[in-house]
Amino acid sequence: MRRLFALSLAACLLPLSALAQGFDVTVLGATGGIQDGNLSAFMIAPHGDARAVTCDAGALVAGLIAAEAAGNLGAITVPEGSDYTRVGHTLTDVIRGYMISHAHMDHIAGLIVASPDDSAKPIYAIQSVHDDFADSIFNWVAWPNFGTTGAEPRLGKYAATVLTPGAPVPIADTEMTVTAYPLAHSGRDSTAFLVQSGDDALLCLGDTGPDRVNNSGNLAALWQATAPLAASGALKGIIIESSYTSERPDTLLFGHLTPRLIMDELAVLAKHAGGTDSLKDLPIIISHVKYSLRTGPSPRDIITDELNKMNTLGLKIIMPVQGDLYRLGG
Ligand SMILES: [Zn+2]
Ligand SMILES: [Zn+2]
Repeated sequence: MRRLFALSLAACLLPLSALAQGFDVTVLGATGGIQDGNLSAFMIAPHGDARAVTCDAGALVAGLIAAEAAGNLGAITVPEGSDYTRVGHTLTDVIRGYMISHAHMDHIAGLIVASPDDSAKPIYAIQSVHDDFADSIFNWVAWPNFGTTGAEPRLGKYAATVLTPGAPVPIADTEMTVTAYPLAHSGRDSTAFLVQSGDDALLCLGDTGPDRVNNSGNLAALWQATAPLAASGALKGIIIESSYTSERPDTLLFGHLTPRLIMDELAVLAKHAGGTDSLKDLPIIISHVKYSLRTGPSPRDIITDELNKMNTLGLKIIMPVQGDLYRLGG
């Protein structure tokens, strides 16, 4: 008893940063189209914690199979007596919820097709995204209603947890909270999710265009809100999309970003966070790069090259591959 007390006292006396472990991010879907089976999805957990949430769910089972093949589910132990494979255990037990940025197919396809064999868990989204799900997907036309709202009968597997922008909400059965920030994307709402665990934070953006083109202040507000976390070192990484190369004209962005626009946006965050050195070595995972059907230099290579050339902030640029596992911070 005394030893327990001494241990917990020691833990209390440690500075919070000493308890910071960072996050494990497993790439379940790396691209933004057109490659079915490898569409936007990132599994996020505090480092070493087998209770995760995903940021979007464009690919689930395909991504878990890729992570297993790459040896990156090795830290996840299937309980004795379970008849699940590690992929099955991870889908039904480790993943405790889905954060969905918007209801476009490339962000939800994995969730939809896995739903019959999935376990019950919440979907975290802003109200308009839940409405889109209920109206367009879980409507007994596109798919049976596995949700808790919309067309009857409601199978109720995925409880709709409504996120109010700017208000942190616990991610049930995990050590994490999520705060939603609205984004503008192709005439629909999209969402950025700030995931926090203890002293650590991670930002995952759904599809978004730049404020200038969208005539919105959403990204400006996001950077303002998260700059203190970047300044203090609590922010361990950002997942952000680059759908096109930098030569793409503003009129053909369709609510997406390019390397040039990412760097413009992150410069705003750096400015709020204390200057050009404030984001040095911050991991930036680039999502939503589109698979190319054409010969010649791949958009992925061009985007990688452009980001590295424009990287005056000293960011740690990561071009993810499905199945990859990254430890951010800690
Ligand atoms: Zn998308
Ligand atoms: Zn989209």
